[in-house]
Amino acid sequence: MSISVRQIDETKPLEVALHQFDQAASFLKLQEGLRQVLRTGHRELTVHFPVAMDDGSTRMFTGYRVQHSISRGPGKGGIRYHPNVDLDEVRALAAWMSWKCGVMNIPFGGAKGGVQCNPKELSLAELERMTRRFTWEIAPLIGPDQDIPAPDVYTNAQTMAWIMDTYSMFKGHTVTGVVTGKPIEIGGSLGRESATAQGCVYAVRESFRHMGMDLEESTAAVQGFGNAGYHAARLLSEMGVRVVAVSDSSGGAFNSEGLDVQALKEWKAEMGTVAGAAGTDEITNAELLELPVDVLVPAAMEGQITGHNADRVRARIVAEAANGPTTPSADEILYDKGVFVVPDILANGGGVTVSYFEWVQNTQKLFWNEADINQKLDSIMTRAFHEVLDIAQKERVPMRTAAYILGVGRVANAKKLRGVFP
Ligand code: GLU
Repeated sequence: MSISVRQIDETKPLEVALHQFDQAASFLKLQEGLRQVLRTGHRELTVHFPVAMDDGSTRMFTGYRVQHSISRGPGKGGIRYHPNVDLDEVRALAAWMSWKCGVMNIPFGGAKGGVQCNPKELSLAELERMTRRFTWEIAPLIGPDQDIPAPDVYTNAQTMAWIMDTYSMFKGHTVTGVVTGKPIEIGGSLGRESATAQGCVYAVRESFRHMGMDLEESTAAVQGFGNAGYHAARLLSEMGVRVVAVSDSSGGAFNSEGLDVQALKEWKAEMGTVAGAAGTDEITNAELLELPVDVLVPAAMEGQITGHNADRVRARIVAEAANGPTTPSADEILYDKGVFVVPDILANGGGVTVSYFEWVQNTQKLFWNEADINQKLDSIMTRAFHEVLDIAQKERVPMRTAAYILGVGRVANAKKLRGVFP
């Protein structure tokens, strides 16, 4: 039985994730036992560990690695460093990875990890020691055939290099395939850094085609200026879209004539925020979400478009580069208003898809060029987009519901075929 939207606390990503799953499970008429398996997830590790700080003190940190499902292949998903990380958030993010790998039809299960910390308050040396000790603590769970971490919020290629090195020291030989999103020099893949945004932009292109809209005449706003947001803004403007607003956790920049994304990147590198850049007006994160643009790309955190502000969203397309930016009650409002929402488990699936390419290249010890990677990503993204759109049109459901029907359906089917051991 699906739970009504009003009964869940939408500030909690796990409640949102379970609600979305329940809706798909009801549509797919999944048996109760299978439903319980997929609701509960598979394996969870909580670790508390000390880190030597630069001032000579010792501080305790708490981290998690959750494998939601390993039915379709090794666990796969990022590691985030953020003050809001807790077990329930990691559980939600791990489940979303399972459905995402299902939608993209790549041979991985779903996993996620995180350390509760404020990375902005840690030095590079402290971040390295925290990362290495966390890796050591979760080493029994991860591995190229078991569970493969990648970057997420406030982690990057350098973080992956430290994880790969620590794990390799533990094993006594170099294991490149234990993480994806590594630096190119040590086994990373061309195109991985911009892959989440590149995939999202392919999905935006397909959305425009579907809606008969012209890219050249259009405008966009991007919330978030990290890996996903910066590359999304860059790629959209390279494609001819006028990007009028971007933001980060400290504020935003607006110019109705269009922003110079590269100049904003340089400004942020110097000032720590995009806010206040020359030739731009300041705008808040909340105002950015309500701009009258063709495309809105939430590329930051969960729970940004909610029952409180969805009514004021004026974009025609919302393409979710972030995980979980729209709550279920906002989804209902956007659907009723006719906003075309490309859901996270489809729109940001480009990241994990190129992670898959990286893992395949590591396994084969044979590397591909960037044109090949982007062409393969385009074909997987375009196929997934149209599979979801076909379900949405045939069943007369929102794109999110359609994506869940596809993703949950694939994971459920794998589980059913494999059966219950013993
Ligand atoms: N953190 C990214 C995501 O949420 C990438 C995960 C991966 O490549 O494993 O999809």
